[in-house]
Amino acid sequence: MSSSATLHTSSHWHPFQDMSAARDQLVLTDADGVWMTSSDGRRFLDATAGLWFCHAGYGRREIADAAHAQLLRLHAYSTFGDYANEPADELADRLSDLAPGGPWKVLFTSGGSDGVETAVKYARRYWQALGRPERTMVLSRRDSYHGMHTAATQISGIPANRSGYGPLLPDSRLIARDDAQALQAAIDELGAERIAAFVCEPIVGAGGVHFPPSGYLETVADICRRNDILFVVDEVTTGMGRAGAWFASENYGLEPDLLLAAKGLTSGYLPLGAVLVHQRVAAPFWEGGEVFRHGYTYSGHAAAAAAALANLDYLNEHGLLRDADRIAARLPELFDGLGGDGVVQSVRTGPAAMACVQLNAWLLRKDPLLLQRAVRAVRDAGVLTRPFACGGLQISPALCATDTELEQMAEGVRKGLASLL
Ligand code: PLP
Repeated sequence: MSSSATLHTSSHWHPFQDMSAARDQLVLTDADGVWMTSSDGRRFLDATAGLWFCHAGYGRREIADAAHAQLLRLHAYSTFGDYANEPADELADRLSDLAPGGPWKVLFTSGGSDGVETAVKYARRYWQALGRPERTMVLSRRDSYHGMHTAATQISGIPANRSGYGPLLPDSRLIARDDAQALQAAIDELGAERIAAFVCEPIVGAGGVHFPPSGYLETVADICRRNDILFVVDEVTTGMGRAGAWFASENYGLEPDLLLAAKGLTSGYLPLGAVLVHQRVAAPFWEGGEVFRHGYTYSGHAAAAAAALANLDYLNEHGLLRDADRIAARLPELFDGLGGDGVVQSVRTGPAAMACVQLNAWLLRKDPLLLQRAVRAVRDAGVLTRPFACGGLQISPALCATDTELEQMAEGVRKGLASLL
C-alpha cells in the first residue's frame, strides 16, 4: 500500500476502477483553494480541479452560504409544467446573457451526460417537429468525450469506454478529430437530409486535451450551417471560464445551435448542467405549439441554481476568467523540457487552462501499468492528477491557482515522473 492511501473496506464501488484489484483508496476529507487533505493528514495540490469542475477553488463560503440559504428556504421542487423557482429563472436569464449570440432558452439537467442526452434527443425531436423525421443521425469526433449515458457513450470517441455494450445509438458516426473535410465527406456519403446534428467539444478534454487546428471549428460550423445540420457545442469542460471566456465558443466566433454547460457552472458545489438552445432552434417549441416531453427530477434544482449564481458571481468578482488566461500562458513554460525526458513524450498546451502530459507510447506498450504508476508517483510527490485513456495525465487546475502553486504542481509532476525512471 502506498503511503498516501488507506485500506478499501467499504461497499463503495468506484467509477472506472478495477474493484477486484482495489486494495486501498485515498480518502479526502478537507479542501481549501487548490489544497486537499486526506484522512491520514497528508496535503496534496489538486492539479485537475476534481473532474474539471472546481473553477472557483475549494472552501468558498460565498457559494456554500448561497446554497445553504436556498436549501433552508426551498431546496427543490418540480419545474415540470408551470412550476418555477426564482434561482432557476434567474440562472436561465444569466446564462442567456453570458453565452455568445443568443438569446437562448435554457433546459436544466443534473450534469454533463444528461445535457448531451438532452441535446441528442432535442436534435431529433426538432427535426421531427419541422416535418423532417428522417434526420436522425448524429455525427461526432474521434477522441471526443461526451459523458456516460447511452447516446453519450456511443458518440464519444474513446474506444475503451464504448466496448462491451453493443451498439448503443446505431444512427451515429464518428469522424476524424481535426479534419473538417472528413465531416463534409461523411455528410456527402450519408446525405445531409439524414443528419440531425454534429456534436463537438471546442477543445477535446478527457480524450487527451487536443486544441483545434486553426480554422477547424469555424469551418465545421460553416459546413453545418450550409447543410442545415444542428451544431451542438459541448462546453462541459471548456465553459464557465476555463478558456478565458464564459464559453470557448466566443474565442472562435462560433454561433452554436445548442450549447452545453455543467461542471464549472457550480464549480461542483452542487451537481448541475444546462443545455442552451438558441432561440431560432427553440422556436417550434416556444412559438409553434410543440412540446418537448423531456426533463429530469432535478431539472432546475433551486439550491443547485443558487450555488451556480453565487459561483458565477465569485468567478466574476475575483477575475478568474483572466486567471484562466494567465494559467494557460504559464503551462507551456512550467512543463518545458518534460517532453523528451524518457517517460514523457510531449505536453499538449494551448489557449485554455488545461494540458495533457502524454507518456511515451513505447513505454506504455511495454508496461501496461505505467500510467497508473505515474499517477501514484505524482501523488506521492504531493500532486493529485488522473490518467487519460490516451496514456496522458490531466492538468487542469482550479482557476484560482497562484503562480507559486502552479510551479509546485509542475515540480510534483516532474519529481513523480522522474522517480519512475
Ligand atoms: N461532456 C464533456 C465534454 C465532458 O468532459 C464530460 C465529463 O467529463 C461530460 C460531457 C459528462 O459530464 P458528467 O460527467 O457531468 O455527466
